[in-house]
Amino acid sequence: MTTPSVLPWARFILLFAGLAAVSCYQPVSNSSGQPDDKPETSYASTGSESADPENGSPESDQQKEGNQLESLEGPVGGGFRANFESNLKRNGMDASAAVDPSNAVESRILAEYGAVFLTQAVPPPKVMFGSEEEASGFQSKAGVESAVLGGTSIELQPKAMAALKKASEEAKAKGLSITPRDGSEAARRSYSKTLDLWNSRFLKALDHWRAKGRLSSDQVSRLKGLPIKQQVSEVLELEKSGIYFNTFFNNSILYSVAAPGTSQHLSMLAFDASEFQNPEVRKILAANGWFRTVQNDEPHFTFLGLKESELPAYGLKKVSKNGGEYWIPDV
Ligand SMILES: [Zn+2]
Repeated sequence: MTTPSVLPWARFILLFAGLAAVSCYQPVSNSSGQPDDKPETSYASTGSESADPENGSPESDQQKEGNQLESLEGPVGGGFRANFESNLKRNGMDASAAVDPSNAVESRILAEYGAVFLTQAVPPPKVMFGSEEEASGFQSKAGVESAVLGGTSIELQPKAMAALKKASEEAKAKGLSITPRDGSEAARRSYSKTLDLWNSRFLKALDHWRAKGRLSSDQVSRLKGLPIKQQVSEVLELEKSGIYFNTFFNNSILYSVAAPGTSQHLSMLAFDASEFQNPEVRKILAANGWFRTVQNDEPHFTFLGLKESELPAYGLKKVSKNGGEYWIPDV
């Protein structure tokens, strides 16, 4: 049972702990016309090079499965929150700027999608990118690597791509394959794409509830005009009174799509695999640092770059659902 004395951010997390969300934002249709910028710069000071000079293991891609993953600094005590703060600091980022504990939406997003902040690649600087500029600015700094997998061109952070390619090779050697689901959006996405997906549900639900007389035209206009963060907050508030924004207007919009700017795909640390149902494929991905970290989002894998055995020490807990496992923040 919770107590009223927990920290504000923890209280919100507990408040929403029963809800799971879908961060994969399966596109309603395949979209083209995404911005295709090719940023070149990268973070220089984060130790995010592909080799691992700090931990005394000079072997590289010839290592055996699972042995190539060595965390840069290892977990710190204190569970998820402490490791979240530590990893951002390691990357020159500030945890207090990453999430506002008094903001229920941000706290919820951290609880749902927060595993990504433990990545050994470059973590996102905040739980919610506020604009295209912010998201693409991060993507430029983190570095973008392209590759063709299963005939589809995808983009990820360099470390994430290297690990995915290695997993793909290992799968091939076993007569399996690891390929992108739903085209190039299986990996990197733009902010505008996450906004489009949000609007595909949000606008439809506004029409629905206006027709039902539950929202007035004035309310609809006002909601449409709100800044995104406030819009998300008010949508979640309306849902408490049964005005739902998911596809069938009977559940939270977060079961259909996530809030704009919050996708792990924006951080280029997520990959949706067609073969997600194959336990052997999941095992190969896990051995290369790719884990499922968003409950109920079955095809969605997140690049953590950590060994599975280390994950509890980083503050993640394993949840088993529908025959599969997810590693989520233990908060
Ligand atoms: Zn996904």
